Amino acid sequence: MVFEEALYINGSQRKMLSIEDVTQLATNSLDLYNEIKNNLFCPECEKPHLTYNSCTTKSNYFSTRNLESHADTCSFKCKRATNHQLELLENDEKSLDRLQNRLKAVILSCFSEKKAARNPFVIENKISKVSTNTENQSERTAVKYAIPKKRITNGLSQADVDQLKIFYGKVRVRCKKHRNGHKLYIFNLTQRQLPMICSIYLSEKVYEHINIKDNDCFNCLISFYVKMEINKQDDKIYYNCILTDSRKMFFWKIDR
Ligand SMILES: [Zn+2]
Repeated sequence: MVFEEALYINGSQRKMLSIEDVTQLATNSLDLYNEIKNNLFCPECEKPHLTYNSCTTKSNYFSTRNLESHADTCSFKCKRATNHQLELLENDEKSLDRLQNRLKAVILSCFSEKKAARNPFVIENKISKVSTNTENQSERTAVKYAIPKKRITNGLSQADVDQLKIFYGKVRVRCKKHRNGHKLYIFNLTQRQLPMICSIYLSEKVYEHINIKDNDCFNCLISFYVKMEINKQDDKIYYNCILTDSRKMFFWKIDR
């Protein structure tokens, strides 16, 4: 299992560290890195230690330490949600309102030390189970499923397309008029030379419900729930998606 965030816990100290934060420490402040490296934990359930892995051929990542396991509430331990379950998350007005709250909780749980009341990456389904006791009463048990997620800070890949996912990251956004609506162009916040991560198309109706103006350019923490598409043009690969409702995205402007 690969992680791109780790929660640093030392006594009462808690801090969410991204893979870039730890890479920075491992490269430039070895003393600090040695101090924190044994206190990194799973950002969701906080149970297993995470180990930092630096790679030359692919992106750096955190991994679970051997033999340490996740809590049952952790999405890393749950079965993946079915496509039908994922579609139900954006099915009607009620579920869209709940989706917006889930996306807010994603920002909280991925970028702050606070813990969301419920794990936003997990769907809980209550099912009736016929009990084995003699009265044959049915019992309600909760079965948990994981919502696919992808941190977009370091770009996307083929594995991220054609599949409903929660995308999230610390990014730079540029808004421009596009056809009958607007497009949000999403970039890496610190490495401006990197190609665009993806674009999000908003119809004029959706654009009206979002607090972004034409030509705006800002840094933010963002989360959105979409099916990403891949397009190839002149040997270049672009990732694009359409936001069909403003509640399928949440963003929090930041200074840097
Ligand atoms: Zn966990």
